[in-house]
Amino acid sequence: MSTCLVTGGAGFLGSHLCDELLRRGHHVICVDNLETGSLTNIAHIRVPEFEFLQLDIVQPYFVERPIDFVYHLASPASPIDYLRLPLHTLKVGSHGTHHTLGLAKKHRARFLIASTSEVYGDPQVHPQPETYWGHVNPIGPRGVYDEAKRYAEALTMAYHRQQGVDTAIMRIFNTYGARMRPYDGRAIPTFLRQALQDRPITVFGDGSQTRSFCYVDDLIRGMIALAESGEGGPVNVGNPNEFTLLELAETVIEITDSKSEIVHEALPTDDPQVRQPDISLARALLGWEPEIDLREGLRRTVEQAGTAALVGAGRR
Ligand code: NAD
Repeated sequence: MSTCLVTGGAGFLGSHLCDELLRRGHHVICVDNLETGSLTNIAHIRVPEFEFLQLDIVQPYFVERPIDFVYHLASPASPIDYLRLPLHTLKVGSHGTHHTLGLAKKHRARFLIASTSEVYGDPQVHPQPETYWGHVNPIGPRGVYDEAKRYAEALTMAYHRQQGVDTAIMRIFNTYGARMRPYDGRAIPTFLRQALQDRPITVFGDGSQTRSFCYVDDLIRGMIALAESGEGGPVNVGNPNEFTLLELAETVIEITDSKSEIVHEALPTDDPQVRQPDISLARALLGWEPEIDLREGLRRTVEQAGTAALVGAGRR
């Protein structure tokens, strides 16, 4: 049994990671300031192997108990959040990552950072392999997120090279599942909320832009596989099956048996036109690949989350 510290553990991915680590018999310390996460995501966990520490990792923080693994997920992740919290997003990527790497160093723990496909920015190479260095607009509104993650990757490598910390960089591509917030602005929770209420489904632009959607259980399996391997990465983890946003909207309508129609809205600034991971490295190094296709993942999301949570009952 290992002790794993999860920053951002009350968020969407973090809470699923806590569940899976506990299921595998580990002790979990969940650290979160609840900025975009929620106690609701971890309310079901009632075992002595789980501790919750409410703190802001932008400030220095310490944990007495020995730690074997640090999973660093804390960061606003959806555009609605990081556009609302631009300075916080930069600080959590910089100060927050410094403090968390410092903690990993002190404990001689293995450190994994949840980076993002957004470090590739405009995907001039498609699909995106880890060797593509990206094409990011540093001064656009999304720059706060993309550059924070790029800085966090550079910092991770500096702690590895100069301080000897055992690190891994994971580049996560769009992931979905239960516990995404219905109003977080990302395509799948938005489409599910609209479809389950038979309201118009709002597709940005003409809907020909593509995304590759990974079901959360596949992603978490890949994350733990990378953490428990000796690999440093960066390693892409995502589902390489690519869909247009229009296809996604149609699939959501089909699996929810909805009467919604599709309407079009303006494209956000710097929205990538295509997005697809090259996962050859994850296959070769970790023996990992996704197992759950889009239809099955959407069905599981609806079943696990329930309609009330997906439509944000009692909220705006
Ligand atoms: P999320 O917003 O649900 O979770 C982020 C968590 O971090 C929240 O619980 C939030 O309260 C916490 N947090 C934020 N700032 C903090 C701070 N200063 N101190 C302590 N806790 C703080 O987002 P998510 O989708 O679960 O994303 C988790 C991580 O995975 C993020 O780092 C994100 O960049 C990365 N990622 C996610 C996706 C995806 O598709 N979900 C894709 C690429 C990368």
